[in-house]
Amino acid sequence: MKENVKAYGAKDSKAELEPMTIKRRDIQKDDVEIDITYCGVCHSDIHTVHNDWGNSVYPMIPGHEIIGRVVLVGDGVSDFTEGQLVGVGCMVDSCQTCSACKDDMEQFCENGATMTYGSKDKHMDDHTHGGYTTSIVVDKEFVLRIPENIDEKAAAPLLCAGITTYSPLKNWNVKKGDNVGVIGLGGLGHMGVKFANAMEAHVVMITTSPDKADDAERLGAHEVLISKDKEAMKKHQGSFDFILNTIPVGHKMDPYIALLKRDATMVLVGSVEPLDPFNGAGLIMGRKRVAGSLIGGIKETQEMLDFCGEHNIVSDVEMIDMMDINKAYERVMDNDVKYRFVIDMASLKK
Ligand code: NAP
Ligand code: ZN
Repeated sequence: MKENVKAYGAKDSKAELEPMTIKRRDIQKDDVEIDITYCGVCHSDIHTVHNDWGNSVYPMIPGHEIIGRVVLVGDGVSDFTEGQLVGVGCMVDSCQTCSACKDDMEQFCENGATMTYGSKDKHMDDHTHGGYTTSIVVDKEFVLRIPENIDEKAAAPLLCAGITTYSPLKNWNVKKGDNVGVIGLGGLGHMGVKFANAMEAHVVMITTSPDKADDAERLGAHEVLISKDKEAMKKHQGSFDFILNTIPVGHKMDPYIALLKRDATMVLVGSVEPLDPFNGAGLIMGRKRVAGSLIGGIKETQEMLDFCGEHNIVSDVEMIDMMDINKAYERVMDNDVKYRFVIDMASLKK
């Protein structure tokens, strides 16, 4: 076992993140040991540190947008070699035998997927610890190949923000010419815009922030709709084939449901909490649907990474040192991030 691995974590839901040390298991037959170079900062890390969803365990080392290089592989590993650029997302294990796992949807594992942080660790008497640290040991089935042609540090957010937006766009068959709305220009939303654009949809950025309009267009939006502008919202009523909603908190649904065409769907990925009551009539009149989506399976995550390699898609990132993490959390909560913070793990190795 490796002891005293440097990390940053939270002691409890009220504490700031601070230096800590953790243990990592010795590699076993099917394991890959990764030297972490970069880790993205997802809004979910902040929700979890603050125990917004009521299921957090401490001490907690967040981080599930992990990029690094392979340092060692177990005897049973043939797909990965020393020095290879790899990634780890939101999951590090699952039962591999239930129907969800067999259907390549480990995120819905009927026996409970092991999340990258805060899940019961199958190998050690501990819970799992995420990527705000210098190294991680992961079962080979949960290690992703990162295309070498894309910018390594800007690839980190693909492991969560990327797959969480790619998966619903694919699952709901977004195609050329569809009118697609993406609500919320943050970490997830900016990836949603890039993917929908690459899938040749007509992309409308639906935002509360007029000052993000130029960025939205630069990222690939063909139009920008300011959700606080009632007139503009009225003009777009009944016009969308698909809407991806990344709002990170409970909110009013009716104004967004009104934007959908007959039979169209709005997929929620952000509000992992109660929503404001909404009027059933909005769905009934037009046979509209509201659905949800959770990250994506490992096979689909690899497909998304390969798609990013082909289309040269990465995240727009602002690099930070590990010790600046608390400031970064404040800025995400203040809606001041363009459009994903990524921690340079060299700052923790000094
Ligand atoms: P983020 O970077 O903070 O972006 C969220 C964006 O939503 C903001 O930039 C803002 O965009 C908009 N927004 C914020 N508060 C709002 C409000 N009260 N009303 C309307 N719009 C608001 O967060 P993120 O990292 O993209 O994560 C988004 C959410 O998805 C989080 O709750 C996260 O936990 C969750 N998540 C879910 C999954 C999944 O698998 N389902 C995976 C990862 C993350 P504008 O300024 O453009 O309005
Ligand atoms: Zn995330």
